[in-house]
Amino acid sequence: MGKTSKQAFNIFFGNSNYNVNENTAKFIEKLFGINWGNRIWDGNINAPQIAVDDELKQILLKCINIESISFDPVDRMKHSIGKSSIEILNSRLSILPGIVDAVVYPDQDEVYNLVKTLKKENIHITVYGGGTSVTGGLISKYTGKGRTVSIDTSKLKKIELRDGIVFCGAGFTGKELEEILNTKGKTMGNFPESFNYSTVGGWIATKESGQESNQYGDIEDMVSYIELVRTDGLFSDRYSPRSSSGISVKDVAMGSEGKCGIIMNAGIKVYNLPERRHYYSYFFKSFKDGIKSLMQMEKFPTVLRLSDETETEFLFLSQNNSMATDIFSKYLSLRQVNRGSLLILINNNARFKKPSNSVYSGRTIARIWENTRYERPYFGNVLWEHGLVPDTLETSVSWENIIKLYDEAILSFNNSIRELNIAGIIMSHISHFYIDGCAIYFTFIIKTDKTDDLIKIRKNMVNVFLHNGGSITHHHGLGKFFEEFAGDNSVFMKMLRDDIFDK
Ligand SMILES: Cc1cc2nc3c(=O)[nH]c(=O)nc-3n(C[C@H](O)[C@H](O)[C@H](O)COP(=O)(O)OP(=O)(O)OC[C@H]3O[C@@H](n4cnc5c(N)ncnc54)[C@H](O)[C@@H]3O)c2cc1C
Repeated sequence: MGKTSKQAFNIFFGNSNYNVNENTAKFIEKLFGINWGNRIWDGNINAPQIAVDDELKQILLKCINIESISFDPVDRMKHSIGKSSIEILNSRLSILPGIVDAVVYPDQDEVYNLVKTLKKENIHITVYGGGTSVTGGLISKYTGKGRTVSIDTSKLKKIELRDGIVFCGAGFTGKELEEILNTKGKTMGNFPESFNYSTVGGWIATKESGQESNQYGDIEDMVSYIELVRTDGLFSDRYSPRSSSGISVKDVAMGSEGKCGIIMNAGIKVYNLPERRHYYSYFFKSFKDGIKSLMQMEKFPTVLRLSDETETEFLFLSQNNSMATDIFSKYLSLRQVNRGSLLILINNNARFKKPSNSVYSGRTIARIWENTRYERPYFGNVLWEHGLVPDTLETSVSWENIIKLYDEAILSFNNSIRELNIAGIIMSHISHFYIDGCAIYFTFIIKTDKTDDLIKIRKNMVNVFLHNGGSITHHHGLGKFFEEFAGDNSVFMKMLRDDIFDK
């Protein structure tokens, strides 16, 4: 067994260059009693000294070349941890997860042989796409209980565009794939906030949904073909626009979260790029007025995003004071909108009619939202640096139950922080729309040094979701953190799972 040296890596999502203006900094200082000048953590965590397993190396060399195998501690650590707040807070507290024994980067021709060899040697597998899981999906249950190898999909990048479909490797990130498609005048229309980093395989495995799902659908509507590598063979759908011939490979792979095999290739529908985007913003007197207006719609625009009063106020706080913002506030109060609720509406190719009971507030806000949509999560890094804990939870719920679920979720959060005696703030928006309901997303920030506080708040809120007819999650997947809520889903998962893949 050889030894390797101690090194650090940064656990934050993206970078920490997010510019926080004075208004926001002051607001946070006051709310949490902190000093904005003090940065207490840079997000770097030390990968411990870990041994290289020479016997494992010899096994891997039988099926994959040396350049595609890594025993580097930083690599191994990175592949054992995702971007959930529980994992980031644990890292800040130096509570590290179990670390995989090796990372391998197979190309397409190596995957099946690799999986078969690992099965023969009884070595467990975790699958790694872009590493953006927010539900503990990358935490291995086997580390320390036998060998575990992480299979990284970043070399799976075959691509072919034909028949209105892009057939592509699971390792493409959203950004990489969309850039290629755009050069051909096409788009797949899938824009999750993690677009720059998350991968095709990860989207399918977690049942992801992008910000333009109203027009292009959720990932299950976009994908029409999947190749899945399991220990018992390579399975693929016979491609055609639709088929009714039994359970498909797609049915097994969707939401499989690395438990049923490796998603190696997928076929995703592509569309012509929009000729023109139409931008609008509106205000409602209250979030609930906004919800009541939007639930009357039968057809939804490409992007529709309604923020509650707290999120609206927070967004405005981040705009620097100017004569323009003053005039804007006065204009809204003249229209009886004081502590209002902001709606962003973007539609491809055609104008979209004004929602009932709303006050029009120009195009600029929607354009700013679009230009900064992948950078906004970097604000979370700045909060982590100041000792705070940002987190998000989301669910989908019928129109009938949305207002009750919202009220009770906010109440649950406020009761939890009072009981825990910690400072916190919660805000919300709704952003994916269906004829029978919508997805609602909660963002909260707390100040704590205890992972148990965070877990308690999360569990209480998920119980509120379930109690009010909501789903466990609308688009983040179950990962390891929500497994306990999974019920019948976990029964089917047990039937379909492939035994050496992480449970
Ligand atoms: C800042 C931020 C914003 C986000 N925004 C959104 C959003 O707008 N919409 C949304 O839906 N989600 C969002 N997410 C969550 C996350 O990006 C998605 O769950 C995404 O689909 C994960 O993809 P990934 O490639 O990063 O997968 P990973 O994090 O690497 O893996 C996630 C799970 O999928 C499995 N997996 C990955 N690749 C494969 C494969 N090829 N075969 C089999 N299993 C595989 C892994 O084993 C793991 O269980 C966000 C996350 C962050 C951090």
